[in-house]
Amino acid sequence: MEIRQALEEIKSRLDIVDFISEHLDLRRSGSNFKALCPFHNEKTPSFMVSPEKQIFHCFGCGTGGDIVTFVMKYEGLPFVDAVKRLSARAGISIDEPRRQGGHRSGISRSDLLETNKKATLFFRKKLFETPLAINYLKDRGITEDTSQTFSLGFAPPGRTNLLEHLLKDGVKEEVILRAGLCKDTENGRIDTFRNRIIFPITNISGEVIAFGGRAIKKDFPGPKYINSPDTPLFHKSSALFGLSHARKEIAKKGYVILMEGYLDVITSYQAGIKNAVAPLGTALTDGQVRRLKNLTRNALLVFDSDDAGIKATRRALKLLYKNGITGKVLLLAPGDDPDSFIRKHGAKGFRSLFPHSKGLVEFFLTLNEDRVDILREVLYIISDIKDAILRGELIRELSEKTDLPEAFLREELRGIRTGDEKERITLLKGEDTPERHLLGIFINYPDYRSKIKEALLPELFYSQKYKQIFEKLFSTDFKEISEIKDIFTDEEFSSITSSAISCDIDSEEIGKNIDDSVAKLYNMRKKRRIKEIESNLRIAEKSGDDKKVDTLKKELDKLIKEGLHDGVF
Ligand SMILES: [Zn+2]
Repeated sequence: MEIRQALEEIKSRLDIVDFISEHLDLRRSGSNFKALCPFHNEKTPSFMVSPEKQIFHCFGCGTGGDIVTFVMKYEGLPFVDAVKRLSARAGISIDEPRRQGGHRSGISRSDLLETNKKATLFFRKKLFETPLAINYLKDRGITEDTSQTFSLGFAPPGRTNLLEHLLKDGVKEEVILRAGLCKDTENGRIDTFRNRIIFPITNISGEVIAFGGRAIKKDFPGPKYINSPDTPLFHKSSALFGLSHARKEIAKKGYVILMEGYLDVITSYQAGIKNAVAPLGTALTDGQVRRLKNLTRNALLVFDSDDAGIKATRRALKLLYKNGITGKVLLLAPGDDPDSFIRKHGAKGFRSLFPHSKGLVEFFLTLNEDRVDILREVLYIISDIKDAILRGELIRELSEKTDLPEAFLREELRGIRTGDEKERITLLKGEDTPERHLLGIFINYPDYRSKIKEALLPELFYSQKYKQIFEKLFSTDFKEISEIKDIFTDEEFSSITSSAISCDIDSEEIGKNIDDSVAKLYNMRKKRRIKEIESNLRIAEKSGDDKKVDTLKKELDKLIKEGLHDGVF
């Protein structure tokens, strides 16, 4: 029997209450059972088991799941072993699971690192054999020393050069696949990187965890840049290019320079500016910022000055300030990036621009956009800053540069912060928000999943946390909670089990319950929008922008006239 079938069989033959009661002293409490939690120290029971839903959740420490999760946690077993243990107990025999998925398949971290090391050497050797690739780097002004430092390489154009090389070297095909170095296509298994300059991506200790590849011929199929897929070693959203090389200099200089591309970082390094790193892809992520936060509290952003670059800069500033990092922005002339600028003007020329970099307020106020919207965006960023002194300084600066009274700005800021704080507390207490309610239904009643998926439009979410959980759920096909545990963080998974165990609905009422919750979300969104316009109106009035006041009043009238959503679809 396959593992998925076995899971179903286990659930039909074993009862979670019977099973857990062999280990814990379960007492009835309403429709559930209660016990002292085995996973944290407590004096009053907050560990709940639901016989009806066949899941458990501890409201003290957040641990929860189904019978398989319980065995995994209680006995400290990996997933497959927990299923085996329960199968034996239920009298089911299962096949050895098919080998797939990192830690479950017996492929270790060091297997993957070793394979990446071999691939790096292969790419490096190919670089020396390929004049086209050597010339590409030469044209870019990259010296042999620098190429060596960053272990740059070249992936030849054939279909399976690397694959064959690694197999011959004794690496198992499943390891190569798992490392993301080859992939399956309609036409068979091929190398992930072909006809590309290779930029190895390292972790903070300098081990190669993934690769970036840049096409050097325009007519070769595929995008200009590609990265390794996510693997057990590499998560694109938290890795930064150049970090192992920049780490020391970041500490020494007291700040990091964030640039857009691999070549920006490499050219800077070669010119002696060694505290630069680049996110992989244009947008900086929360995971990357958290990584930086351990190294420094100051960042200089030098992204491209085109629309996409400005957008990325705004997003990055928001993330940086939210995480307690102060950001400054250096805008190069349109068309220039650090790579091209340094090649033209040298490190000295580049450094001479640093004193002209703009702080948060200055940067936003120089953007050629609607003043009120810009002010609002800055206020939102400031509202996320935890340090009260920094918040005060920025408000003062904003007031000086806009001629709006400081007291007025503070008042608007307070409005934003109270809203956020309320939201945070609601989430913390696990209060019954519409999103939490829908999550419970989604988990407990599979028949209604497609209905929820259709109704829950991305813009309807009030909480980013639930939005992320639902995005993952929507893209996964699953029956049992234990099947999806791996794709969630502990905190997310805890929200899932907690909402599932608290969700108590008469089965006849489920459809109506979904409609009501969705209608509530529509209304929350509308109220939020109305509040925002009202605040914009105050700002526009204070700034004496009559035209803007007019537009906003009309928009507000329209929204209020529409009334609230009544939950009929
Ligand atoms: Zn607990």
